[in-house]
Amino acid sequence: MNTLGMDGQGAKIVELSGVTKEYAGGVTALKGVDLGIAPGELVAIVGPSGSGKSTLLHMIGTLDRPTGGSVRVAGHEVAGLTDRELSALRARHIGFVFQQFHLAAGVTALDNVADGLLYGGARLKERRERARAALERVGLGNRTGHRPHQLSGGEQQRVAVARAVAREPDLLLADEPTGNLDSAAGAGVLALLDELNRAGTTVAIITHDLDVAAGAPRRVRVRDGLIVADERAEVAGR
Ligand code: ADP
Repeated sequence: MNTLGMDGQGAKIVELSGVTKEYAGGVTALKGVDLGIAPGELVAIVGPSGSGKSTLLHMIGTLDRPTGGSVRVAGHEVAGLTDRELSALRARHIGFVFQQFHLAAGVTALDNVADGLLYGGARLKERRERARAALERVGLGNRTGHRPHQLSGGEQQRVAVARAVAREPDLLLADEPTGNLDSAAGAGVLALLDELNRAGTTVAIITHDLDVAAGAPRRVRVRDGLIVADERAEVAGR
């Protein structure tokens, strides 16, 4: 297996072309999607329930394969990779943040983040050092010993963000990251994603919430399995 590094400089991190996805039962969830995400972007992918956002997330995140068309991540054509190679591609290039946080119960914030580094094969001490740095980056340097039930929802999502960025992925892919948070905590998590983006992380946020999308400089609208708008707008403060 090759090392699945980035192919070439300045290439798109994600490039979907003509992507279709049909599910058993005859539902066509994506009907031909072209979408590129370049290094440094902050893009919101927004659409109503049933529009195909989750399916698109699965394509971008290489969690599932398309029925037709091409998905390239970090220069690698997904169709040409085995499942094992796909997991390596994900581990190396994509950090995931989900609505439900997905933290291990009873495990400290530090070890939740350190365990996310297991794939890289580093020793525990080094993983914990990197985890501590990532928690400091998300403003939780003073919560490293807390377990998920001792943290607020907003703090739990920050731990999840720390776990995702600790590996320094090329793309941070956030699926409804504010969906389980009250508006103040949600705004805090969005501000964190914005801050990480300004520091160089490429971020894609998938959401049904127009207010969440409004803060992003690029907004891709999905409806009925198609991209119906791809807008770049001036956002205050950027
Ligand atoms: P969204 O995330 O925007 O709500 P989805 O991508 O989940 O949209 O769904 C798009 C369409 O595909 C919907 O009509 C949904 O019912 C259908 N769908 C999603 N997942 C599956 C599946 N595993 N099997 C069959 N149909 C599915």
